[in-house]
Amino acid sequence: MGVALIEVQDLSKRYGDTTAVDHLTFAVQPGRITGFLGPNGAGKSTTMRLILGLDRPNSGTATIDGVPYARLREPLRKVGALLEARAVHTGRSAYHHLRCLAQSQGLPRTRVDEVLRLVGLTEVARKRAGGFSLGMGQRLGIAAALLGDPHVLILDEPVNGLDPEGVLWIRNLMKALAGAGKTILVSSHLMSEMAQTADHLVVIGRGKLIADESVEDFIARSSERSVLVRTPQPAQLIKELERVDADVTTADDGALIVRGMAAAEIGEKASAARVVLHELTPQRASLEEAFMELTRESVQYHADSGLSPEQPPIVGSGALAAPAVPAAESEVAE
Ligand code: ADP
Repeated sequence: MGVALIEVQDLSKRYGDTTAVDHLTFAVQPGRITGFLGPNGAGKSTTMRLILGLDRPNSGTATIDGVPYARLREPLRKVGALLEARAVHTGRSAYHHLRCLAQSQGLPRTRVDEVLRLVGLTEVARKRAGGFSLGMGQRLGIAAALLGDPHVLILDEPVNGLDPEGVLWIRNLMKALAGAGKTILVSSHLMSEMAQTADHLVVIGRGKLIADESVEDFIARSSERSVLVRTPQPAQLIKELERVDADVTTADDGALIVRGMAAAEIGEKASAARVVLHELTPQRASLEEAFMELTRESVQYHADSGLSPEQPPIVGSGALAAPAVPAAESEVAE
């Protein structure tokens, strides 16, 4: 098996007046988890559907190992996918559901038992899948995605609606699979979740690429964006800093917020101008702030919200909150 790679080239998709995906280009490499991040409505699901050949692009291409999904010879052996959280409306048992899937794809029956074990559903495999909780339904969906032991996994918001244990389980499973060399593209609107899970980030907003970089680079780029300065001589310091094009604003409590200049440089300027400093503190933007800032211009505005793009973005309330997950070990796939 060669290198399993997802490549999206200048991909665009319109639905009526809505441009869901806008000239998007990126590649997903094997052996690491690529987080596909963006606010709700950014175009993540549409991109994934285009990669899976479930929708036709207006322009551009999406390929897996250089071939469009529709032309893959044994798709389930190559690509596993979990799309939007959906309940399994079936009277069939989890075992039966997976066995039918396996049969339809010419996969051995023994693989059904393997994936049931892998996702921890062995005990309930004979129960009606329609009665499963959301978490168990997600496990079943992942079992189905893993059935053909594919080298490429495409997971759309797999942790949505899961309890902390489920979130941790999926995270560890993805890490194990990436460690085994699989190519993993996983979408989320949660920066905090992606920061803990992904090695690499592809960030989109309004269908356009905003960032394609490692999580470390993303964090480095977004941290220490401003410096908080306290001085009994604010007017004098502002004059010195603005002379060298730093952007200075005054907070309610009189502190100065300086952008475009490192703390050390501000200290040196102050010293040269004989300005006394009481505080000089680099401010680290949180990942959530960095994500909000990066996607601010691109958050989807709904026609019926009455908001204009000048107003603050609507990034779902609580959507960026960190899941309360303890950094503990849990079951990991072999
Ligand atoms: P995300 O997965 O990032 O939340 P989506 O890909 O679901 O974003 O949606 C991107 C945009 O395309 C949204 O404005 C959405 O309303 C629109 N859209 C998605 N699918 C359809 C469709 N089948 N018909 C019309 N509009 C759609």
